[in-house]
Amino acid sequence: MADLTTQPDFDAHEQVEFIEDERSGLKAIIAIHSTHLGPAAGGTRFWHYPNPDDALRDALRLSRGMSYKNAMAGLPMGGGKAVILADQNRRKTPEMLAAFGQAIEKLGGRYVTAEDVGMSEADMVAIGRETQHVCGLPADEGEAGGDPGPFTAMGVFQGIKAAIRHRLGRDSADGVHVAVQGAGSVGGRTARLLAREGAQVTIADIDMGRAEALADEVGGEAVAPDEIMGVACDVFSPNALGAILDDEGIARLDCAIVAGGANNQLGRHHHGEKLAKRGILYAPDYVINGGGIINVSLEYLCRVKGEPCDIDEVRRRIAQIPERLEMIWTRSDESGLPPGDVADRMAQELIGR
Ligand code: NAD
Repeated sequence: MADLTTQPDFDAHEQVEFIEDERSGLKAIIAIHSTHLGPAAGGTRFWHYPNPDDALRDALRLSRGMSYKNAMAGLPMGGGKAVILADQNRRKTPEMLAAFGQAIEKLGGRYVTAEDVGMSEADMVAIGRETQHVCGLPADEGEAGGDPGPFTAMGVFQGIKAAIRHRLGRDSADGVHVAVQGAGSVGGRTARLLAREGAQVTIADIDMGRAEALADEVGGEAVAPDEIMGVACDVFSPNALGAILDDEGIARLDCAIVAGGANNQLGRHHHGEKLAKRGILYAPDYVINGGGIINVSLEYLCRVKGEPCDIDEVRRRIAQIPERLEMIWTRSDESGLPPGDVADRMAQELIGR
């Protein structure tokens, strides 16, 4: 494994743990970027990395991203991320999950895990047998926790409406045309909320059947995945992959606003400026998609205190996403900095960097 401090993504991370448990075969990295605001929260990614250096890069990069996301969500949580280095067959055993839970427990609450790519709610339950520092556990009706997807979509929908207000001067999504990339957990729910308010929705998914079923349901249109970024619309909403806003992607856009739930939408940092130069309003991804982490963090904080966590508190905090975006856009208008840079600076200030 390469020297930590020479890694391009090393950003004064507070702690990085390399875990190798011979008995279960678990190999994992837990990166704690910042605990300035509270315990470092961020999901566990289960992924096969042909080059282990890529696993370290992911852990460093994503944990810093979680510091920013949690700070901008107004949560008393720092930023962390774990990756489990899966073998080629992606073998995942109860023993590995138990060893991983024990490794988290040893950190004494400095790191709190959640679901990410390759992990399930059942995996969180398994980890939770070894440590209480886990969130995204099944929730009772009316309480925070469980699947973060609906809460992420709730925030994305409200963020899109804020962007419509800011850029188009309209108070409702009625009659606004939104092109939704990805008809999964977040994209599907966002499309439904938009359609319910009268938006015209165009949808694409690499699973054409899924896109068509959703289009039928919401009275929209399905297009091929390679067409969605070029659709003439008011809002392009990325809810599938990261890094889609690169030179080629930005050149194809025919919209006034980019606002969606996908993580890491900008290909490289300078693409934020490129979007701004094209006159397209950008909703920084980690601000608009914070609804899911708000839900599971509140679940965790309440559980640690032994209190029930009312879903209304989650909703109240998600309802603050539009005003945070508005603040970012106003500062961006005033300073001439792209919204992504404004958000980064605000987040860095919040985490004392
Ligand atoms: P999901 O797997 O439920 O849905 C993703 C959908 O995108 C799938 O239907 C998939 O077929 C489709 N897709 C993949 N590649 C595509 C392409 N090239 N073009 C069109 N469609 C494509 O995932 P999700 O939970 O909805 O998450 C979507 C995005 O939002 C991801 O970037 C994720 O990291 C991010 N995110 C999700 C949450 C959450 O709470 N689920 C929270 C924050 C961020």
